[in-house]
Amino acid sequence: MTLFERVFKGSDEVYEQAVKAVDSAIEEHGADYAVSLPNTAYNLPCYYSFTGAKVKTLGELKEAMGTIKGWLKHDKRTSDVFTSGIGAALCAEVIETLKYVKDENCYDANPYHGHLSDAEIRELGVPLVTGDIPGVAVIIGPAPSDEQAAALIKSYQSDGIIVFLVGGIIQQAQRAKVNMGFKVRIVPLGEDLTAVIHAVSVALRAALIFGNVPAGDYDAMCKYTMERVHAFVNAYTPLDDTTVAYGGGAIALGFPVITNETTNISRVPKSLIIDENVDQWHDTSLEARDIKIKVTKIDIPVAFATAFEGEIIRRGDMQLEVDGSRVDCFELVRTKELAEVEDHKIELVGPDFDQIEVGSKISMAILVDVAGKTMQSDFEPVFERKFHSYLNCMEGIMHTGQRDMIRIRVSKAAYEAGLRAKHFGEVLYAKIKSDYDKVVDKCQVTVVTDPEKCTELRHSVAIPAYDRRDERLMSLTDESVDVFYTCILCQSFSPSHVCVVTPERLGLCGAVSWLDAKATNELDPNGPCQIIHKDGVIDERLGTWTNVNEAVRKYSQGALEQVSLYSIMEDPMTSCGCFECICGIEPFSNGVIIANREYAGMTPLGMTFPEMASMTGGGVQTPGFMGHGKHFIASKKFMKAEGGVARIVWMPKALKESVAEKLNATAKELYDIDNFCDMIGDETIAEDPETLMEFLTEKGHPALGMDPMM
Ligand code: SF4
Ligand code: ZN
Repeated sequence: MTLFERVFKGSDEVYEQAVKAVDSAIEEHGADYAVSLPNTAYNLPCYYSFTGAKVKTLGELKEAMGTIKGWLKHDKRTSDVFTSGIGAALCAEVIETLKYVKDENCYDANPYHGHLSDAEIRELGVPLVTGDIPGVAVIIGPAPSDEQAAALIKSYQSDGIIVFLVGGIIQQAQRAKVNMGFKVRIVPLGEDLTAVIHAVSVALRAALIFGNVPAGDYDAMCKYTMERVHAFVNAYTPLDDTTVAYGGGAIALGFPVITNETTNISRVPKSLIIDENVDQWHDTSLEARDIKIKVTKIDIPVAFATAFEGEIIRRGDMQLEVDGSRVDCFELVRTKELAEVEDHKIELVGPDFDQIEVGSKISMAILVDVAGKTMQSDFEPVFERKFHSYLNCMEGIMHTGQRDMIRIRVSKAAYEAGLRAKHFGEVLYAKIKSDYDKVVDKCQVTVVTDPEKCTELRHSVAIPAYDRRDERLMSLTDESVDVFYTCILCQSFSPSHVCVVTPERLGLCGAVSWLDAKATNELDPNGPCQIIHKDGVIDERLGTWTNVNEAVRKYSQGALEQVSLYSIMEDPMTSCGCFECICGIEPFSNGVIIANREYAGMTPLGMTFPEMASMTGGGVQTPGFMGHGKHFIASKKFMKAEGGVARIVWMPKALKESVAEKLNATAKELYDIDNFCDMIGDETIAEDPETLMEFLTEKGHPALGMDPMM
């Protein structure tokens, strides 16, 4: 049998299975029964991507099978191998969807993950564009041995590559005690091979969410995934024909397949690579997909990778804990003169971890002194905020909080591997020197564990420094600065998206403040953050400037003509897809509701976060819907053109609580309203517009008296 024949046979097989599954589901539930994969705005995202049609019921799913049949052309042209492969993938999506119809908790049994939510894909946006996640590996197993399975998975993980597992390799990884889950970027999709579709679905939804690729445009979909999603497939022999068919689909999307199958298979240069030495698949795959890994050599006894950022360390696994809520702890970056800093000096003041009783809660102060000719004190908080991710990337370390409210857990395993206090210094030194090499010429780290010394330094050094910084931040307004910045990092996924970052409006991902953008520009003057001189004001109310328009036009390659920084209705800023929050007009109250990515429930718009989020994105202006960062909510520039924060009528409770202090202060200052947040609805108050209106009326919410927005 030839490779072509295997693809055709495999796609026919999975097609038949899918047809049977649809028929039996209709028999059980009826044709009007609603179908969708969970927590997505696209129902069956792969089918939607390739046809533009949203399948809503079992009856429509049956019709969809007719459409899919059309993809299974078997005329022995190369293009038929690709479309048959895509057809096979669509059948797999149908089968996986029906698993959820049968039992919505079908993937809740550990360790399987199944379908990824839209919110999870949006969460991957920033690490993908920054290169923290340099690629996507899909491994279909089992591997020849548990050890080889674990070694391959870990080799990708340590490069930051996100790994999707399908089939027997998941149990192998479990036996080899590989820690798995979305948070640690090793995602066990499912035991059945049809689960591979959940990886395909991520790539296609990236095209929909970030790329604004029109659903139903086959060529544009494949072009987007080929150029922008750096995925590849590793498939262990023996492969059945359906897996070979899925492989055809993967290649159509631009994802090379690396396998050790040798019978009835033929090499396709750059796309289907036969490599019998499975122990070198890591290198073979990276070369095939042209993925380059940036390595920073750090001298520590535990692994260091972005995948460990999501690692949780439970109390029972804890060697010790730095606990800023009970004892004096802090982290601080200080700018010094070149002569005052000895490069790579790492000093410990106080007892080391082996002199501290297991299970203790300890004090710790981490002082990082930097010096450089172009260093500015404005960069101190930028570096300091990175400590969180730097320390978290160490395997066996969990870091939360910032400034003098930090908590760091050290696992017993990390301690036993030899991890000591000075290794925090090694990590911070290495990362700051490599990430900020243009501004930091010298760097030294002092780790203090002596409790009295921590208390003294906290009060004499740290708190005054934070106070000075807060004063500086307070004085930073859009009016007080001469320049704004662009950020176009997300263009690798959203080709025409431009964020304009101002002191009072941070990037919609929440990760880029005006100070961050300033530092990025200093580090890389030709990089993603370009200076916009704030000249040529057109309209203060809308927040429009000729120079801002010019920048947006230039950096969107002409896709955008103009943008108003303070309006959601007139030329609002575009969204890429990785926004922390989405805000949309609520027509009955004249207000807006905001939903954050973490919120899984319903909003009074009758839409969930993924549904609201799907209304905008891909670098397109959508009046009435706008993605934004969490911190923008309390800004005096939030919807300033439409009357400001007084328009906010509903937010999820947790989000409301997290912004309450600052939002209340803004409302007091702008409208002299006390405790404004008490007037804002949430899911415990209303999930429909009628109940919300009753609540707002009772509270006398200011939006009710404002001019209509539309
Ligand atoms: Fe992307 Fe905007 Fe954040 Fe830059 S500021 S990373 S463009 S969302
Ligand atoms: Zn983005």
